[in-house]
Order: sequence, then structure tokens, then C-alpha cells
Amino acid sequence: MADRNEPVVAADPAVIAGLDHYLTLPIKQQPTWTDLEQVASVRKQLSALPPLVFAGEVDILRDRLAQAAAGKAFLLQGGDCAETFADATADRIRNRVKTLLQMAVVLTYGASLPVIKMGRMAGQFAKPRSSDTETRGDVTLPAYRGDIVNGYDFTPESRATDPNRMLQAYNTSASTLNLIRAFTQGGFADLRSVHEWNRGFADNPANNRYKALADEIDRAVKFMDACGADFDALRTTEFYVSHEGLLLDYERPLTRIDSRTGTPYITSGHFIWIGERTRQLDHAHVDYLSRVRNPIGVKLGPTTSVEDTLELIERLDPNREPGRLTFITRMGAGKIREELPKLVEAVRDSEAQPLWITDPMHGNGITTKNGYKSRRFDDVMDEVRGFFEVHKALGTFPGGVHVELTGDDVAECLGGSENIDEASLEERYETLCDPRLNHMQSLELAFLVAESLAARN
Ligand code: PEP
Ligand code: MN
Repeated sequence: MADRNEPVVAADPAVIAGLDHYLTLPIKQQPTWTDLEQVASVRKQLSALPPLVFAGEVDILRDRLAQAAAGKAFLLQGGDCAETFADATADRIRNRVKTLLQMAVVLTYGASLPVIKMGRMAGQFAKPRSSDTETRGDVTLPAYRGDIVNGYDFTPESRATDPNRMLQAYNTSASTLNLIRAFTQGGFADLRSVHEWNRGFADNPANNRYKALADEIDRAVKFMDACGADFDALRTTEFYVSHEGLLLDYERPLTRIDSRTGTPYITSGHFIWIGERTRQLDHAHVDYLSRVRNPIGVKLGPTTSVEDTLELIERLDPNREPGRLTFITRMGAGKIREELPKLVEAVRDSEAQPLWITDPMHGNGITTKNGYKSRRFDDVMDEVRGFFEVHKALGTFPGGVHVELTGDDVAECLGGSENIDEASLEERYETLCDPRLNHMQSLELAFLVAESLAARN
């Protein structure tokens, strides 16, 4: 019997959930903060700020992703490699949302499947790097780790870590998400106005193809309207936000205990993924994300073993909960047909049912002769094709695409119908990190994916 005079200590749900266990584990890709007191102060401030997303939304997303894993929906996830504070402007956010919505229209109509729309947006500020430092000429400085950690300019002041940037990342995410919610709930995304979205876009094969599709949709909508269908549901659309859960000094204070269920949710975004460089089984990131309720993604590169894949399922989805786990494969066009089948086959035979999506960007990096980090549009397309082929051969569902894109007219990836060449990179290369598909290339990719999906049905 407990002593009646003993004080009753309320059990702390965060302690019960073991949220801080990650602190005892090895961790990769974190900044070397210099002002630890400031880090503690910022963490405290973050923990008092309102959540950016709500547990109820996260639960709905999990259900949607379960549909995709079962072959009844398709996930479209895209956005910048690295968002920046400077680019969180109304125009740029609108262009990105618009591009994703246009891609979703192409996919929905082409494949007759519901499309789950998800931005790499409103929180994609932390970047893993291959080296802690960057050298230019005879100067070596800390590497740029994303706007949430330090600045991109190559000066000691800018490259110094600054914990206050985590607050700026929170605020920028909040204003980005606010605009996304306004766009997707306020009528901007009304399916009946898909034509409007073409205004201002150049005469180009992808745009013209899009216009033709918009005409078809128009006709279908008019027909249904005449039949008396109720189109209120077309006025708004669900849109989710996601980012790599890399910087745990940011994610931990934004993890909240849901009052309905007493369980922890990361509230900095709906969907959080673990990158290729931080998916070690016994390290901090896998442990931390195993303890939260959000749907979780894990990037799988070409060296991923079958054993690690199965063990990731054990750790991140021990209950085999539909929609909980997404594998984002990024093998490279030259490797996907060789490396992906064994993973998909082993997972299929284990009777786990994660969602499989393709990231056709990160395995296809090249450096151009004139020194730009780029990707060939044809390689991106080829990896997408390989992804569909592998799943078709194994009887599993190719459930989505994960792409780095922008709604703007940049020249960062080579090829596509505009034939972007190496010289164009010198004029319109804007990314601070990886090269993104531009508006047109994104639409072209959507048409290819829609065709592959339709062929599968
Ligand atoms: C990214 O998604 O920007 C990234 C760094 O990917 P990966 O972890 O797959 O290398
Ligand atoms: Mn990237």
C-alpha cells in the first residue's frame, strides 16, 4: 500500500513516452552550437509557443496515407530542398502551392485516384551536409546547415550558428502555413478555376497539355453541374506540410502531448521524415521518431540492406499501423531496378504494408562542366519509370512521388521540354542547396506519373 502521506506525483506523459531518451544516444548531423545557454533559452521559448499543426489533422493524414499504402490513393510530396527565410514571400509560396495543385489535378484526373497533397514546406529549414566545413580558396568556414542554424553567405559572421534562428524558423513556418491554409481553404484551389492558374504561364508543351486537360475537366464539371451535382467539396482541398525531422533541438520543444490521447505529436509539421544520413537504427533520430504519433517517412538509398529495412519497420511501426510508415526510396536511375526489388520483396513477404514512394531526385545528382550541382530531367523520369516497373513486377503499389520543385521559372535541372542546358544554369540558378524542377518540369513529371498510374490500372 502506498503511504497516504506521500505526495502524489502526476506522471509526466513526456517521461512515460521516453521522449528524452534520444539524448543518451549517438546523433549525427547536428550543429555545433557555441552558445548552449541560448539554445536552452530558445528551446524553452519554443516549448511555450502554440503548435503549428494539430493532432487531429495528423491523424487524418495517417488515414489518408493508409489509403495510399493500400493502393487507393497517391501521395504527391514536393517543395524546396531547403526553404529560406528570404523566399517565404507571398508570391513564391503561392507559386509552389499552385504548382503542386496543378500536378495534383493532372494526377487525379489522369489516374482517377485521390491525391494527397503535401508540401516540403513550412518547416524544411535544416539540412544534412556531407562535411562540417566548406572551403573556398584558402578560407574554411562551417558548412551551411540551413536557415534554421546559420546563414548561407560565406563569411564567419553569417556561418556562425545562431539558436535564435530556430525562433525565426518557427515564425516563418507559421506565416507560410497561414498562407497555405488561406489558399487551400479560401477558394483559390477551387477545382473549377484550374484555368485561372494558367494565366501568366508561357506557351510551352507542358502548359499546353495542361490547358487541354483543364478543358476536359471543365467539360466534365459542366456536365456534372447540369446533372445537379453538388460542388461544395471542390472549393477547398486538404494540404499537408512536411519536413525532415533533422534538428532535434527544434522538434523536441514542438512535440506536444495530445490532450485527447495523452500521446506525443510533433506539431512543427504533419509528416516528418528521417534522412538517408540519419537513419542508423540505434541512433537518436530513429529513437525519437519511434515515440511520436505522426506518420513518419524514412529515406532509403542504394546501400540500404534488407535487414535494416525490416528493422526500421520493427522500430518505427511495431504495431503495423496503416499509414504510419512511408519508405521514400532514392536509389538513382541507374540502380533502382537492381537495388529496390530485394527491399520491396522482403517487406512484402514480411506482411508489413508501408507506403512506398519514390524520390527520383537525390540519387541523381551530377556536377556540370561549368560547376553547377544539377540533375538531368531524363534521369529523374527514368527513376520514376523504374519505380513503377519494380512495383508492378512484385505486385506492390507505387504509392507516391517526393520531388524537389519550385513554382518559379528557374534553371537548375537539365533538360525537359524547354531543353534547359548548362549555359541556362548560369542565368537562373537560385537554389541554396539541391537543384529543383521548375514549374514546367514539374508539370511534365506529373503527366508521366499520371500515365504510369493509369497504365497500371
Ligand atoms: C533531402 O531530401 O533534401 C535530402 C537531404 O535527402 P536524402 O536524405 O535522401 O539525402
Ligand atoms: Mn535535397
